[in-house]
Amino acid sequence: MYLTFHCPKCDCTTQTSELSNVKELRCTSCDWERSFPEGEGSEEHQLNECLRCGNSDLWRQKNFPQWLGLFFVALGAISSSIAWLYYKPILALSILMGFALLDMILYIVMPDVLVCYRCRTKHHSVDVSQHGGFDHELGEKYRQEEIKRKDAEQHSEATA
Ligand SMILES: [Zn+2]
Ligand SMILES: [Zn+2]
Repeated sequence: MYLTFHCPKCDCTTQTSELSNVKELRCTSCDWERSFPEGEGSEEHQLNECLRCGNSDLWRQKNFPQWLGLFFVALGAISSSIAWLYYKPILALSILMGFALLDMILYIVMPDVLVCYRCRTKHHSVDVSQHGGFDHELGEKYRQEEIKRKDAEQHSEATA
């Protein structure tokens, strides 16, 4: 397993190396670190909480960048329009189908990652079977929590 996380201290994004022999999470840009809770991290592929913030709400998603999917759709649409222009409808259709298929294959072979609702840390190469997809209600709850936290932070800064 390895993680992609935002450091809470300096806000840098760090991608860790394989974590099976490591006892803590460490930021590469500053001195922030967090030790893993007992049993987590060392245990093979089972994950019940976020290793960055300890939150137990995680969702699974494909580690598939959205822009790449859009890029394929756009590329397929453009090249098939060009084929249409040259009166080659069969070619145009095959191009569209080809890109749709490519998109699907990529989606299938891309691995799942677990993402934390609170800090958006991505956990790669873990067992995702216990977790569901993104829940909008839960996502909204964490979004509100984040807004409140920022408000409180600003407030405390203003009064200090
Ligand atoms: Zn940092
Ligand atoms: Zn988290």
